Amino acid sequence: MANEPKELSIAAKAALDVLSASDKPLTLGEISEKAGMDIKSGNLTGLVRAGKVISEEREYVCPTCNHKKIYHVFSIAE
Ligand SMILES: [Zn+2]
Repeated sequence: MANEPKELSIAAKAALDVLSASDKPLTLGEISEKAGMDIKSGNLTGLVRAGKVISEEREYVCPTCNHKKIYHVFSIAE
């Protein structure tokens, strides 16, 4: 019980539903699109801390100018 988030916000619940239905990690943008609402990283913090959602860093290298960008993808912890 100690690890359970006290109460999931509507956004956190929506994100959890989207991630549960997905077979691959999703970015915040993808989660927001599928949820039909704006999901922010703060909405997922509690779920990540509770071990229900895994956050991973990915690196994107721009093919034009070679600059690197770090972004996060989220998935359900099995
Ligand atoms: Zn670039």
